[in-house]
Amino acid sequence: MSVETLIEQTSGATESSPFSPESFDSYVMTTYARFSLALERGAGCRVWDTQGREYLDFVAGIATCTLGHAHPAMVEAVTQQIQTLHHVSNLYYIPVQGQLAQWLVDHSCADRAFFCNSGAEANEGAIKLARKYAHTVLNIKEPVILTAHASFHGRTLATITATGQPKYQKNFDPLMPGFQYVPYNDIEALEAVIAELDSGERRVAAILLEALQGEGGVRPGEVAYFQRIREICDEKGILLILDEVQVGMGRTGKLWGYENLGIEPDIFTSAKGLGGGIPIGAMLCKSFCDVFQAGDHASTFGGNPFACAVALAVCQTIERENLLANAEARGEQLRAGLQALAAKYPHLVTEVRGWGLINGMELKADIELTSPAVVKAAMDEGLLLVPAGPKVLRFVPPLILSSQEVDSALQTLERVFAQVLNSDS
Ligand code: PLP
Repeated sequence: MSVETLIEQTSGATESSPFSPESFDSYVMTTYARFSLALERGAGCRVWDTQGREYLDFVAGIATCTLGHAHPAMVEAVTQQIQTLHHVSNLYYIPVQGQLAQWLVDHSCADRAFFCNSGAEANEGAIKLARKYAHTVLNIKEPVILTAHASFHGRTLATITATGQPKYQKNFDPLMPGFQYVPYNDIEALEAVIAELDSGERRVAAILLEALQGEGGVRPGEVAYFQRIREICDEKGILLILDEVQVGMGRTGKLWGYENLGIEPDIFTSAKGLGGGIPIGAMLCKSFCDVFQAGDHASTFGGNPFACAVALAVCQTIERENLLANAEARGEQLRAGLQALAAKYPHLVTEVRGWGLINGMELKADIELTSPAVVKAAMDEGLLLVPAGPKVLRFVPPLILSSQEVDSALQTLERVFAQVLNSDS
């Protein structure tokens, strides 16, 4: 089935069931501060709302729709697998789960994979694995996992505790014991905490970090910082866990964020872009720290044939369509354009930063302008963006992005900045 046919088949939905935000809000818990926009279909890097208005999608489900919307490879994998076998228990072998694990192992530093459904769940798996390794191999009675301020690792209780941002933890205490926070990209602070917890029952078992902090404001990790952490972990037997949920799967122009830092983690997690929008997560590790045994960890849906077949199609399409090179080239083009905008509007923009197709534009702290306000103005102009905190505009489009689409997004942003200026004066 072609993308056009697929869109034709779904585009009549609004006539029979008109969308009402009021009705939606009366039935769905209000855990999201939603924009007043209802999206109903997509193709490539574009989506359409229930009024038929078109948007260029630089959100991609927040760094998730690797292949954009209605990509033929995903349509085919979904259709084929749902007609063959969509779900069976992990009580049995699932051949396509093995194929996906092999692809991921062949294309990373890991030796083995465990599959689940989301980024938070993948991080939960990594935390459990690190704790079991600490108890059974390192002989640590009270293992501590160090994480960074401004990090984001998910919304379960363990992962909001791992997340170094109090706003996600407020009113959900008691939090999980066994976590301590350090400033990101600050090696002295990290070494001080490790020295402090070097003996006794409470010791550092693992360090959990993002190679680039996504939610925390699109902050790339520094090479020297991560390389020193790798050395410390090797010297002390501490596990290095990288959360690749947002930066992994080619988003940075390399398959994994850690490749930008010249190091290898012992454990890393993936989700978001792995399934291109189909829910799947993975926790991967080197064999030396794979201390899980049968019964230690499980998930009903994790690694089912449907999710694995689609994720495998996403992986193979990244390779076949050379999307790493595209992410790198389009990323450079986008950053150059954003930097030109920053130079033109120095009173609005502090900095442009990022890798490949995960980029942030930080707005001046001393002006009233917030990133959600710019995001709203861009949305009105037909460009979808997502804030990363109150001052950073985040750009995480699909990896299939074209050069024309980059130009079009930059032109829209320029119009938005000009409007903002006019409304300021
Ligand atoms: N880790 C990182 C770095 C993330 O950016 C996110 C989500 O934004 C998560 C974990 C949580 O993933 P999920 O929402 O799939 O649980």
